[in-house]
Amino acid sequence: MPAECPFCAQSLVPQALVCSSCSRDVTIPETLIAERDDLVRKRAQAREELAEAKAELEMLRRRQRLSLRRN
Ligand SMILES: [Zn+2]
Repeated sequence: MPAECPFCAQSLVPQALVCSSCSRDVTIPETLIAERDDLVRKRAQAREELAEAKAELEMLRRRQRLSLRRN
């Protein structure tokens, strides 16, 4: 039995089956919670990669602008 809601992190009333804050079922098997944590980690990693790709693209654009100015 989790001490807080796995969805909204509100603390739960002991023996609660449903979160009083977000009304979601809090009796979730641990395997599903682990799967969710894994997805959250993958999402964070994907966001990081996206930010890196954007920074790289911006750098290339700046370089291109500089070379255009020289011509
Ligand atoms: Zn909740």
